Amino acid sequence: MVHVNIAIDGPAGAGKSTAAKGVAKRLGLKYIDTGAMYRAITWKGILKGIDFEKSREIELLTSNTVINIKKGSDDSNRIYLDGVDVTTEIRDPSVNRKVSLVAKNQQVRDMMVAQQREIASGGGIVMDGRDIGTHVLPGAHFKFFINATLEERAHRRYLELTKQGHEISEEDVQKEISMRDKIDTEREFSPLVAAKDAIFVDTTNLTAREVEEKIVIHVKECIQAGTA
Ligand code: C5P
Repeated sequence: MVHVNIAIDGPAGAGKSTAAKGVAKRLGLKYIDTGAMYRAITWKGILKGIDFEKSREIELLTSNTVINIKKGSDDSNRIYLDGVDVTTEIRDPSVNRKVSLVAKNQQVRDMMVAQQREIASGGGIVMDGRDIGTHVLPGAHFKFFINATLEERAHRRYLELTKQGHEISEEDVQKEISMRDKIDTEREFSPLVAAKDAIFVDTTNLTAREVEEKIVIHVKECIQAGTA
């Protein structure tokens, strides 16, 4: 059991959440999936039929929304939208197509980041997202930037989605991921970028367990050496 904050950032499908979840479990830390928060708002917007091109509609929706993250039985997060568990719904491909439009809005980000910092204020957190090391927790003890080739990331997502029963082609998954990466990287507020002091992990040829292992070993070594 260690008491540090670990930030894990990177693009879609790089393996952040699997690594973050495993690292949290092994080090006795709390795992927080920040992407799920943007996804929950997007899901509500889809249900309400809002126009995702209109910032005002997204902002109004967000200020009238309550999101809670609770620990699930399998160490993953359960996401509650206005009191309702939407953990499964927020992974729908319709959410993937719109979420970056929600996440590029500054007011939305300010609201989400305030809540994320509040959650992390007690320490002992592994948080994954796009701006954790750069903006949400710039003082995190450890920062990792996880990446893999676009082809590999699309392939992993394709397998995940088809396993869940979605009928989708690998080509469409790749297009959706690269579109999302483009919006996330080019947006004005807290774009997806590695923090200057982040450690890069290329997961293209690594298993989820190997990624987790790399992070855990690094953290433990730094703690033992007194450099964390
Ligand atoms: O991590 P995940 O793929 O679930 O994130 C969904 C989307 O939420 C990202 O594509 C990005 O637009 C947004 N996001 C963000 N900042 C974070 C986490 C996610 O902008 N910290």
